[in-house]
Amino acid sequence: MSEDIDYIIVGQGLVGTWMSYYAQKAGKSFVILNDPNTASASSVASGVINPVTGRRIVQTWMIDELLPNAVNAYTELGNHLQETFIKEAPVVLLHPSLQMKESFEYRLTHENVYLSNNNAKDFEAFFKVPFGTGQIDSSYWIDLNKMIHAWRTELISKAQLIQERFDISDLIIEKEKVQWKNYTAKQIIFCDGNNSMQNKYFNPLPFAPNKGEALIVKIEGLSNEFIYKNSVSIVPWKEDLFWVGSNYEWEFTNTEPSKAFKEKMIQALDSFLHVPYTIVDHITGIRPANTERRPFVGVHPNYPSLAICNGMGTKGCSLAPYFSKQLIEYLQTGNAIHPEADIKRFEQILNN
Ligand SMILES: Cc1cc2nc3c(=O)[nH]c(=O)nc-3n(C[C@H](O)[C@H](O)[C@H](O)COP(=O)(O)OP(=O)(O)OC[C@H]3O[C@@H](n4cnc5c(N)ncnc54)[C@H](O)[C@@H]3O)c2cc1C
Repeated sequence: MSEDIDYIIVGQGLVGTWMSYYAQKAGKSFVILNDPNTASASSVASGVINPVTGRRIVQTWMIDELLPNAVNAYTELGNHLQETFIKEAPVVLLHPSLQMKESFEYRLTHENVYLSNNNAKDFEAFFKVPFGTGQIDSSYWIDLNKMIHAWRTELISKAQLIQERFDISDLIIEKEKVQWKNYTAKQIIFCDGNNSMQNKYFNPLPFAPNKGEALIVKIEGLSNEFIYKNSVSIVPWKEDLFWVGSNYEWEFTNTEPSKAFKEKMIQALDSFLHVPYTIVDHITGIRPANTERRPFVGVHPNYPSLAICNGMGTKGCSLAPYFSKQLIEYLQTGNAIHPEADIKRFEQILNN
């Protein structure tokens, strides 16, 4: 016999976690399908929310809205699960060149919100800092693996998680509902990261997956209260382990760790770290990025029972809670989705 529910959610990475949390908060019934054997970008991400970006150290898209929303959301989910997932961790900029030091100093006095000076001496025991240091405030570190695992445990306890691979050929789409195996739902919401590229209903969207790698290294004694950034980022991971990365490869032939990346990181670490380190792992992931650098959120123009929340690219930690909540609100009340994120902008190509 078929069970009637509000949503079937595909994928429990960062986006599926937030989508199911907001569905639950809204009192909606759902099941979430997650295949433990399919790669998840969220499991290798460093979990940083950094409000500024690039050589010119400018603010990232919508950050004044996204940042307070993210702090509230991760704190709220932490309280719900009686855990802590978010920690304020200033980014210590170890200026890699005179040009970057000058860029930082210029931005400190021009439209500055998030930058401040710090004392280079505090970091000299670990790092070579010939061009001095600076700081990005209001940066946060999210323990993504802990959060996704803790939420998964709750979903399992409520029999809402189905640990199997979703296959689109098992889906029957009707006018105002979908049917998957013995579930009938008002909507199916795709939160399956890069796998949406194989979905015949959404694959016209301009996905542009991007490979990233990181080394997990042990650096004894280095404070995990900060994130450190030179030409590479050193981010607290767990205990005395740090995540070191990354690279952004738009063209790649495999998802394996590469020797070239490892050698580049070793060269970088050797050039600015005073203390010994040990490499304990080398991880890779594919960012669900796109050519527009804006999320894909909304309902298919031809099939209103098919929805998607995807395309979080390099900024899933701040974008996922915000846009998952918007999509759930849209499905309930019709409240508008941010026009730069709404897939309505692709109506024409999705109609073809
Ligand atoms: C190296 C690296 C570093 C990063 N660092 C940061 C960072 O510091 N800050 C930041 O904000 N972002 C960062 N990101 C980006 C971030 O990881 C992504 O934006 C985010 O994790 C995307 O989440 P998602 O839920 O859309 O996708 P995913 O995490 O890939 O989740 C998709 C889920 O769907 C499941 N799934 C897929 N297909 C199926 C199927 N057919 N059936 C069932 N289940 C399925 C998968 O198993 C997975 O659990 C980084 C990414 C990488 C690769």
